[in-house]
Amino acid sequence: MSNNVKKSLKFNCLRCKQVINVKWVKGEGNYSSKNNWDYWTENKENKKSPSYICDECLLELYYRYKKEFKILIKNVKKRNLLGVYINEGVIGVKRPFFLPE
Ligand SMILES: [Zn+2]
Repeated sequence: MSNNVKKSLKFNCLRCKQVINVKWVKGEGNYSSKNNWDYWTENKENKKSPSYICDECLLELYYRYKKEFKILIKNVKKRNLLGVYINEGVIGVKRPFFLPE
């Protein structure tokens, strides 16, 4: 292990409170932003701690609350990126090519 690798951080999902492990991404030299709610919403408020959301809640927002998804995530590029993450299985589990009945 190189010195550049940092310990993963633990946050509670802002919605369901389950613990989220936020991994250090060596290639980016930063912590993973996929569960960082402030990253997706571009919340610039000064807060004591960042807000994180778990994969399951992101999936639910994406699939079940399409209107809210657009309202909450205003940046179109980020909305598209989040869609790619979900479709590629970066967020949640990759969906099977053939959907089960
Ligand atoms: Zn959650």
